[in-house]
Amino acid sequence: MIRLDEIADRYDALIVGARAAGAATAMLLARRGLSVLLVDRGRYGADTLSTLALMRGGVLQLSRWGLAGRLRAAGTPPVTRTTFHYGDSTLAVAIQPGDGVDALCAPRRTVLDPLLVDAAAAAGAQVLHEVRMTRLLRGADGRVAGAELETAGGEVRRVRAGIVIGADGVRSRVARLAGARVTRSGRHASGVVYGFWEGLAADGFHWHYVPGASAGVIPTNGGATLVFTAVARARFLDEIRWDLAGGHARVLGEVSPALAAAVGAGRKLESLRGFPGETGFLRRAWGPGWALVGDAGHFKDPITAHGLTDALRDAELLARAVATGTDAALADYEARRDELAVPLFEISDAVAGYDWTLGRVQSLHRDFSAAMKREVAAILALDAPARAAATG
Ligand SMILES: Cc1cc2nc3c(=O)[nH]c(=O)nc-3n(C[C@H](O)[C@H](O)[C@H](O)COP(=O)(O)OP(=O)(O)OC[C@H]3O[C@@H](n4cnc5c(N)ncnc54)[C@H](O)[C@@H]3O)c2cc1C
Repeated sequence: MIRLDEIADRYDALIVGARAAGAATAMLLARRGLSVLLVDRGRYGADTLSTLALMRGGVLQLSRWGLAGRLRAAGTPPVTRTTFHYGDSTLAVAIQPGDGVDALCAPRRTVLDPLLVDAAAAAGAQVLHEVRMTRLLRGADGRVAGAELETAGGEVRRVRAGIVIGADGVRSRVARLAGARVTRSGRHASGVVYGFWEGLAADGFHWHYVPGASAGVIPTNGGATLVFTAVARARFLDEIRWDLAGGHARVLGEVSPALAAAVGAGRKLESLRGFPGETGFLRRAWGPGWALVGDAGHFKDPITAHGLTDALRDAELLARAVATGTDAALADYEARRDELAVPLFEISDAVAGYDWTLGRVQSLHRDFSAAMKREVAAILALDAPARAAATG
């Protein structure tokens, strides 16, 4: 890591936000030889709100980038089975090995995010933590041309950049200052409570659904198991927000008395965390001198556990567009992002409505699975030219 007074005056890309989306984009751009500055106002390795589950496209990205082994070496347990519980009926799906993915996983963000930051730094990106982007700089033509950065101690630097990339999350300052328009809005939002337990024997991911509520069991690092409950935002605000422990236990009891009993017998490791819900959106993904990636550009309800996978997928689509360096490539980035993201977005929004029957939510999950297969195919297609060159 470097200090604010050590950075250059100009970079090919300045990336604001050093987590899943920003660190991955920085790594990919640096690997392509661009000069990159990656900044985050948070501490290196700090935790953040997330239930951690990576879907196949996300694990595929980490594998293609040579990082999946490092996650495994950090003690991230492999997940070889996903079990859906619809009321009393159960559907177990084995993860098919292939394309470098032999299991799913759910790394703690204190493991995944620094691993990506380290990979970005190893590729040559310069990384600054505890430095906030405060405003965008513009050229005489109005094009974004850099940004002002500030430490907590009040030290300020102006940095010029060929492109400023907002990977700064749902409340993206880059998006706001660039004037990125919202192009699609969701209607629903899930309120979520989760915590970590020791002593739960979790064989893979478990997703539980009963009318009006859901829960999930997610094995993660350090022998811990994350258990979440989720309900419609209105119910969360009415009955759960001020009593996370009581609400979590009550919803678990509704969704699965057996799971509630297992959690009751386990040892809670950390304080419960609550998320009151946030309605999904897609924003314009680029404009003159700027682009957005990850939650900054589009946020979907977390009930389908796909935000990290979106971020890792779109990091590569954006990095390729930025390396190409044309407006047409950035327009293509937005089009491809939307083509892959919108079906997943709409299904997540529908699940977050909590007004479904068990048959309906099962059908939404089948559609989600089909959309994820298209996503994996699109990621694999990124390697087609290299494969053709190698064989031809
Ligand atoms: C309750 C909950 C559960 C979830 N569960 C899952 C799940 O199981 N699976 C999954 O795939 N996804 C899940 N998600 C979604 C996932 O957490 C996000 O999609 C993911 O974190 C997006 O990563 P990101 O890099 O785009 O943004 P973020 O993780 O939000 O990171 C943005 C970074 O930008 C920095 N930043 C912001 N403003 C500035 C500034 N002005 N200057 C400098 N730095 C700045 C912040 O400090 C932060 O580190 C969940 C989300 C929630 C809320």
